[in-house]
Amino acid sequence: MSNRTFTMIKPDAMEKGYAGQIIDRFEKEGFKLVALKLTKLSPEKAGEFYAIHKERPFYNDLVAYMSRGPIIAAILEKENAVTSFRELIGATNPVNAAEGTIRKEFAVSIEENAVHGSDSDENAAIEGDFFFNAFERVI
Ligand code: UDP
Ligand code: MG
Repeated sequence: MSNRTFTMIKPDAMEKGYAGQIIDRFEKEGFKLVALKLTKLSPEKAGEFYAIHKERPFYNDLVAYMSRGPIIAAILEKENAVTSFRELIGATNPVNAAEGTIRKEFAVSIEENAVHGSDSDENAAIEGDFFFNAFERVI
C-alpha cells in the first residue's frame, strides 16, 4: 500500500476562491504536501490526463472544463493515502457525497466537482509524474 496520492483543485473551485480552504482540509486530515503547483492545462494536456475517459459521453465537456482556468496540482502523503483521500473528497456526484466531504461542501455538479483524487496507487504514481519532475517534489 503506497503512502502517496495525487490531487488537483479543479477550475470551478479555483474560480470561487476555495483553494486555501481546500488545502486546509487536506492538512487538517493529516495529508502532508510533498509537491505543489499552480498551472493551467491546455485542452491537449487535459485530454491526455483524462485519456482513460476518451470514449465516455462527458469527455469533451470534461476537457473543456478542466482547461478553462487555473488548477492546483499536488502530491499528498499519508498512510493508505489513495483510499483515505477518496474518503475525504467523497463521491464523484456531490449529491451522493457524504456529509463532511470536500465535494459535499465545495462541488456544484457531477462534472464541476472541485477536486480530483487518484483511484489507485498505480494511477497516483502516473498522475504525479504527469505534473512533477524529481526536483519539484520532496523525496
Ligand atoms: N465526470 C463528468 N460526468 C460524469 C462522470 C464524471 O463530468 O458522468 C467528470 C468529473 O469531473 C469527474 C471526472 O469526470 O471527477 C472523472 O470521472 P471519474 O469517474 O474518474 O470520477 P472521479 O474519480 O473524479 O470521482
Ligand atoms: Mg477517477
